[in-house]
Amino acid sequence: TVLASETRTVVSPGRIELGAGAVEALGGHAARYGNTALVVATEQIFEFHGDRVIDQLETVGVDPVVYTDVRPDPTVENIESAHARYEREDCDMIVTLGGGSSIDTGKGVGILATNEGPIREFGVDRAGYEGVPNPTPPLVAVNTTAGTGSEATRSVVVSDESTSTKFLIVSANVVPDVAIEDPVLTQSLPKSHTAFTGIDALTHAIEAYVSVKSYSVPDGYAEEAMERIARSLPVAWANGDNLDARADVMVGQLQAGQAFTNASVALVHGLARPLGAQLHIPHGLANGLILPYVVDFSAMAAPEKYAEIARILDAADADDSTRTAADAAADGVLDLCADLDLTGYLDDFGEVPTREEYLDVVDEMAQDAIDSGSPENNPRKPTRDEIADLYLTIYDDA
Ligand code: NAD
Repeated sequence: TVLASETRTVVSPGRIELGAGAVEALGGHAARYGNTALVVATEQIFEFHGDRVIDQLETVGVDPVVYTDVRPDPTVENIESAHARYEREDCDMIVTLGGGSSIDTGKGVGILATNEGPIREFGVDRAGYEGVPNPTPPLVAVNTTAGTGSEATRSVVVSDESTSTKFLIVSANVVPDVAIEDPVLTQSLPKSHTAFTGIDALTHAIEAYVSVKSYSVPDGYAEEAMERIARSLPVAWANGDNLDARADVMVGQLQAGQAFTNASVALVHGLARPLGAQLHIPHGLANGLILPYVVDFSAMAAPEKYAEIARILDAADADDSTRTAADAAADGVLDLCADLDLTGYLDDFGEVPTREEYLDVVDEMAQDAIDSGSPENNPRKPTRDEIADLYLTIYDDA
């Protein structure tokens, strides 16, 4: 129920093109916006789907200027060099092709195009929320992961290599004008990234739902996002060609983005960002490993919300009065992660530092997590020591 006392500004992309073949709508939108488009992508995603985007632009007489140096977890340098290209080639609009990394680079270029830089000055820790004063150029986000929801959010996440931190920019001015959600483009996502990006989306939905900033509108998005992701992510993971499952997850991750950008993320994201910045752990993997423990830690502060999460994840057991909402919700998350081969500890997943090296950075990461402000949105507020303990819990089973 929306209450009359709920006075909020709800943000949303200007238009959303949804469904198999939605990428065909790109040309029509680009033609409305300008003459020269900076196309921002990673090299890999441009190889997969760049031709479709270029064809769409050229058909309507929009000149594409291609920038494919985006790095996963894009850096300050990425945004500056892509912006230099935008200015040099007299671009008047931005098209991103890819997931959160391409979209956030495109948003960063837009900020620098109409605001005095450097990009670091727009971080929430310096400029606050709504920290981008001027409207940015038209941005069409062709999404290829499912995902960050960045095509629907007012956030930009930037890696600062000089400090090994990720900083966050938040402003309604960066919400894309058009979000294109074509599940066909996600069929090329490998299994690992299908799992990582899908769990990132589930985390967005859960965190928005339990956030101290939640209210009815984002709650509605979050509930439906959880339903879709829980029922279709394992199907899309097991059979990447299943277009219905891909489409369901894509809509779910969009709704999860709409949920968190109108409420907030919370403790899981607070912990995951430093893991990405310091140790380059993929964002979704970090979220997936942390999420069950944070659910367990937080549920006592919002038992009704967590009971609902357990119900949606099909983990509630009405006959078992000994199980708390925390147990049930954490089990639901763990079961879903297990379906995606995403359980274990950091040291089960590729190159991670030794325990000693990890211990060296845990305190710093705990401070970064607190400084990000995200833990403040959690229903149960952690101390710095509790955050450090959570970092140790996910390292190994010692
Ligand atoms: P990504 O954009 O970093 O892409 C991950 C990898 O998958 C890249 O190598 C990319 O080339 C490849 N890839 C992408 N789509 C593909 C496809 N369809 N087929 C084959 N390969 C494909 O991944 P992501 O998880 O979407 O984005 C992560 C970034 O987004 C992080 O920097 C994270 O901090 C940020 N993020 C931003 C927001 C926001 O609202 N701005 C929200 C959450 C996360």
